[in-house]
Parts: sequence; structure tokens; C-alpha cells
Amino acid sequence: MNQTEIQNLLDEPACTHNTAGKTGCSRSRPGATQGGCAFDGAQIAILPIADAAHIVHGPIGCAGSSWDLRGSNSSGPQLYRLGMTTELSDVDVIMGRGEKKLFHAIRRAVERYQPQAVFVYGTCVPAMQGDDIEAVARDASQRWGVPVIPVDGAGFYGTKSLGNRIAGETLYRHVIGTREPAPLPQGAVGHGITVHDVNLIGEYNIAGEFWRVAPLFDELGLRILCTLSGDARFREVQTMHRAEANMVVCSKAMLNVARHLREDYGTPFFEGSFYGIADTSQALRDFAKAIGDPSLSVRTELLILREENRARAALEPWRERLAGKRALIFSGGVKSWSVVSALQDLGVEVIATGTEKSTEEDRARIRELMGPNARMIDDNDQSALIATCIESGADILIAGGRYLYAALKARLAFLDINHERDFGYAGYGGFVELARQLALAVHSPVWQRVRQEPRWVRASTRAALLEEA
Ligand code: SF4
Repeated sequence: MNQTEIQNLLDEPACTHNTAGKTGCSRSRPGATQGGCAFDGAQIAILPIADAAHIVHGPIGCAGSSWDLRGSNSSGPQLYRLGMTTELSDVDVIMGRGEKKLFHAIRRAVERYQPQAVFVYGTCVPAMQGDDIEAVARDASQRWGVPVIPVDGAGFYGTKSLGNRIAGETLYRHVIGTREPAPLPQGAVGHGITVHDVNLIGEYNIAGEFWRVAPLFDELGLRILCTLSGDARFREVQTMHRAEANMVVCSKAMLNVARHLREDYGTPFFEGSFYGIADTSQALRDFAKAIGDPSLSVRTELLILREENRARAALEPWRERLAGKRALIFSGGVKSWSVVSALQDLGVEVIATGTEKSTEEDRARIRELMGPNARMIDDNDQSALIATCIESGADILIAGGRYLYAALKARLAFLDINHERDFGYAGYGGFVELARQLALAVHSPVWQRVRQEPRWVRASTRAALLEEA
């Protein structure tokens, strides 16, 4: 990938904050890669394609430090969870054996696992020594008759967000549009309902959370051609160009795919989220609006009414337990505002939200929800974050797993909201689960015990008082 191609990816025209005077994304700064390099971003966006083999072409460290970090679930094949790497050593580099090793790694993956496709991820070392992974992929594909997709996203190209876009660009160039969708199954049409095809871009099915939402699409007559890339299959990604509407679920990740589909196939797209009642309903409404089928709009409104009533009734006991609680959210991207809105739905006061990886658009949404003086935290320094929680009287810190121990050491309730979490929070049912997990975390009896002074301190205080008396 050359300098111009990287610059074009950074300058994403579909970002509404991307005016002529500035680029679409922040430039990488020293230390910024602690959230992941471009290779990590590219891999994390494509890895959930479950029936493909994913080979990391580079030293073992690249695969080892990034493998399977996102808890995307698959309802079928588990091949994507198998770590494959060419494990380049210093001798391989000196002897120029990189391309040869890659070719054999692809052969081994194809012969042993019969994947539907092979993704080959370039990393820093092969990029610097000039391995031509495109040529190797092309030769291997011809030799074994399996699509082999080169993902040219070496870590030094930039940040994890850039890697997400490289992933989108790669899929658009090599995969999307290469197959037609299967015909609708018998019995799926009729009853006066027209089935419409849609895609979800940037939905990763973390902890299986999209399975809470998918039945609603079935009921409405919306066939999901592909969720890019949670629980996706290679053939589904190939058919994405035939959707009638696209939803971009994680605003930053693969906006370029939605833009290309709009430019080349005229498919409208909108950005949204499935966190919280209001946002889930809005997403369903936006699909009906983008497709423009009046009968779908009517069915959508009826479904929303039913689901909202059901969710509100299920939330009642949790709402009471959470009323008046204060939370600090430290997460990036779409979650920096979508979780704010979900918590506000529950009557929880959000005292601040993290914006470390948020775009200008995310920030604008936060201001809309929390007012013009919304407190946004950019700095990911753990001690400063905990100090802010204590100083502002937060009852709970909602953040990624790396803040867990800092919060526990400060005797502060904690909820994991990032991609390693164990519970899915999407959709109406997911929102009830979020309320339940929040209430359980805040009201855990452990806090009362650990916040007390230790027994030996209490004993010495009592002895001192007795002495004084
Ligand atoms: S691709 Fe480069 S920056 Fe990323 S993990 Fe590998 S060596 Fe590190």
C-alpha cells in the first residue's frame, strides 16, 4: 500500500466531520498504537468471518499479541478461532524465505482445513523486506482453487482505525460483488410480505449479542445478507452488493464499505446502534425508511410498540435499583455515546464519558445527549481516571477489561463494556441484561465489606478510645 492509498483511506469523504480543511481521522501520535496497530485493526475487522482461514504473515509476536481479542461468536464454523502464522524468524528474513513460507502456509491451511477462503495479513517485517503478498495470494489461489485474499495492513501504516478501513477496502476490492445471493427459501415469500435484503456493517456479534436482535429482522421480513463481520460466512460477504439498505453499526470501523456500496450500487446507508431501547427502535425505523415499503413501516411500528412495552416491564425492578446512581463511561467510538443514551434511559446519571477513540461526530452526539458542557475524557491514564471517578462520586466505572483491576483496587464497582465482555447488550433483551449487570455490580455486597476499615485498624481505634476513657 503506498502513501497516496493510505492518505485516501484517512481522508474518508463519508465522515460528516471531514471538511476540506482537515483529514477524516487523527494522525497517529507517539504511544497511540497502544490501542493496536493497523494490522491489528485490519485483522480484528475480518477475523470473525468464521469459515475462512486467517494467516498472519510475520513474526510470532504479531499473531500472539492480537489473536482472538474480540469475543465475536459464531453459530457454526470455528475455523476463525484457530491461530495461523508463518512465524517468520530472523533467519527467514536474512535468507529471504518469507514468500516461500507464506505459500506453504496457505497450502497447509487449504489441505488440512478446507476453508472457504484464506485471508493473509501482512505485517511490518514482510512489508519492510518487500514480500509481495498479492502475488503469492494470486498464485496460491490459482494453484488450489480457493480465494486467497491479501490484506496489506502492516502495523507501521498507522492506527487501528486505519486498519479497520484497510480491511473494508480489501473486502470491497477482492470479495464483495463476487457472488449472487441464494434465492429465498420456499415459504419465505407470500402472506402479503415482501422480503427485503439488508446488511449490517461493523456489527461483530460480541458475546453473541446480535442473536438477540436477529429474530426481529426475521419477523419484519428483512433478510440479513451479511453482518460484516460478526458470525459471517465468506459467501455472505460476497453478496453484500445486493442489499437494499445498509446500517453502519460501529461508526468508525468500515464506513468506506457503506460509501462504496452507495456510490457503485446506489444502496442507501445510515449509522445507528443497538444499545438502548431508543436506539434499537430508531435503527429499525431507519431500515423501514431507507427501504421505503409502507407495509414494512407499519409492521415495524407495531413490533417496536410490543418490544418497548415488554422491555420496559422487564426493566422496572432494575430501574428502581439504579435510580440516582452515577456512572463514568470510558469507552471509545460508537459506545462513547450509545451507552450514554442507554444509561440515561435507565435514570443513571452519566458524569463523564471517554472519547479516546471517538470521532468528531461521536463527540457531537455526546454533546447532544449530555449538553454543551459534557465532560469528555481523552487521556487513558488509569490513575487519573480512577481519581476522576472518586472525585466525582461515581458509583461505577464502565470501561474495557484493562481498567478492571485499577477499579477493583480503588474499591469501585466495574462493568466491562468492551469486546472481551461475557454478556451481550444489544437490542431490547440486551438492554435488560445491561440493567441487570449494572445493578448486580453496583449493589454487590462485596463493596460494603471492602470499603470498611480493616478489622485491625478498627481494633486499634477501639483500644485507643478505651485508653482515653
Ligand atoms: S504488525 Fe508491526 S506494529 Fe503490529 S504487532 Fe506486528 S510488528 Fe507490531
